[in-house]
Amino acid sequence: MKYEGSCHCGQVSFAAEGELEKVMECNCSHCSRKGYLLWFVPLADFTLTSAESELSTYTFNKHVIKHHFCPKCGCAPFGFGTDRSGAETAAINVRCLEDVELSNLERIPVDGRAL
Ligand SMILES: [Zn+2]
Repeated sequence: MKYEGSCHCGQVSFAAEGELEKVMECNCSHCSRKGYLLWFVPLADFTLTSAESELSTYTFNKHVIKHHFCPKCGCAPFGFGTDRSGAETAAINVRCLEDVELSNLERIPVDGRAL
């Protein structure tokens, strides 16, 4: 299934393809502040439909994950990183997707605070 998403003001927009059933809810200092509910897809299944120049990027800790956000409205719809096998992955904040019923998703708690 194809999903479309955006930041609040629409300056950043994107699409992703895949089966959305489970999302990761992490309690680390960063994820909890942003309210991320993350869905991971291969980067190849992610399409940025707005200009890359409209994105701002935040990194911290080991600076291996690029947390993108809209510099105008502040929403943080996705980030890019690699999974354990080294494959390039997009982490999508499903709160920024259209037509997704959050209560239908299985939330997988991750104890990021302890890492
Ligand atoms: Zn925006």
